[in-house]
Amino acid sequence: MLDAGLSRRRLLAAGAALAAGFVTSGCGVAKGNSPDRLLEPLIGRSDPTVVPARMPLATQGGPDAVAAKYAGQKPQQWGMDLSGIMTGFDSPGKQFALTLDACGGPGNNDVDENLLALLQAQQVPATLFLNKRWIDANPARAAQLAANPLFELANHGTAHRPLSVTGRSAYEIKGTASAQEAVDEVWRNHERLVALTGSAPRFFRTGTAQYDEVAVSIVRDLGETPVGYSVNADFGATSAADKVRANMMNAKPGGIALAHMHRPNSGTGPGMFAAIPALKAAGFQFVKLP
Ligand SMILES: [Zn+2]
Repeated sequence: MLDAGLSRRRLLAAGAALAAGFVTSGCGVAKGNSPDRLLEPLIGRSDPTVVPARMPLATQGGPDAVAAKYAGQKPQQWGMDLSGIMTGFDSPGKQFALTLDACGGPGNNDVDENLLALLQAQQVPATLFLNKRWIDANPARAAQLAANPLFELANHGTAHRPLSVTGRSAYEIKGTASAQEAVDEVWRNHERLVALTGSAPRFFRTGTAQYDEVAVSIVRDLGETPVGYSVNADFGATSAADKVRANMMNAKPGGIALAHMHRPNSGTGPGMFAAIPALKAAGFQFVKLP
């Protein structure tokens, strides 16, 4: 269900990412769904959709069995809104989910404390996608976030790579190159998050938010729901505050906003300061990913 506006946003996103030498981007729109759609083959489907929380075949045989199951499979699709990637959710009212990525790695291990303080003060729940490198750089802060009921921690990968089984790249970041590498990218941080929170993460988003469809199935077999987004709020924390605010004001019920929490000097925090009260005044209720 792509439209001209969506395509334009994608082009803008790609341009912003390339200009900044930084990651981000893509869009999807929420639509209705039924559980039996999950049983349909992935090949040939490209419409973004609401997906239930998890597939029933979680971790059958563990990560080694999942890697073996998908070894040698050849993907046909690539993107941010493939079937099986959650880009929205069914909302009874004007619910809207804010997700924040902490990408980690050189130059990306900071904490936007002003943004987190805003969420606390405004009691805005959020799902926080933490990369393993960010957790390793901020273990005490990560533990605090894990203990805060306002937030749910999710998996943003081990080395922040696009999730591919053929090494496909996105924004000049090389993707995982085999089923085993894709499993490792998910699972090493899965285990880190289990150690941190005491429970398995429910959601996963790749570095760059790009997947092939074999990788989407791998994530689901590992018991996590691959997540995209419907509102690209800050384009990898490269957007100025007024743009962040404007992007957030595109919120729709059941939508998922993507922003970043590791760039305290970006426009993300100031943009959220403006957008969150405005969205609340417009009747939106912020929720964690359901
Ligand atoms: Zn990231």
